[in-house]
Amino acid sequence: MQPLKYLGGYPPEVQARVRELIAQDRLGTVLSAKYADAHAVRNDGQLYTYVQALKDRHMRKAAPLGKVVFDGKLQVMKHALGTHTTISRVHGGRLKASREIRIASVFRDAPADFLRMIVVHELAHMKEADHNKAFYQLCTHMEPDYHQLEFDLRLYLTHLDAMREQSRSD
Ligand SMILES: [Zn+2]
Repeated sequence: MQPLKYLGGYPPEVQARVRELIAQDRLGTVLSAKYADAHAVRNDGQLYTYVQALKDRHMRKAAPLGKVVFDGKLQVMKHALGTHTTISRVHGGRLKASREIRIASVFRDAPADFLRMIVVHELAHMKEADHNKAFYQLCTHMEPDYHQLEFDLRLYLTHLDAMREQSRSD
């Protein structure tokens, strides 16, 4: 059996349980019962305000935000659950780093908790480039449930893929 795309790093028994939920058509129900709240972030301007508010609360001292946008071409997995680029510009001889945050468009319609989780992830990258221990400490500082949310986000993405495959074969 092929490993599940978003759950490749998890034990086979976890993946088997998820496959079972998909086969029983229950994964979507399980997720929507747990993550019932939607968010109201519809466009890039609202996303910027949302990210800025989280940054003000948890990472006031980090460098100012650069551009913040939804990106329809971003693949969540390939870009390790979001993306993070540092664009360096020279301002009067000084090198300034500005942070651009791109959030995959799939989060526009995702439950509120998943948007918060991915924004926390991207904000943590303003301080830590890699997915190392310090990075995840920052994530759990901003969102104590971070690890559970990241796992459930992987389930959500798995569910979306399963739905897409189902509608293709109908
Ligand atoms: Zn990352």
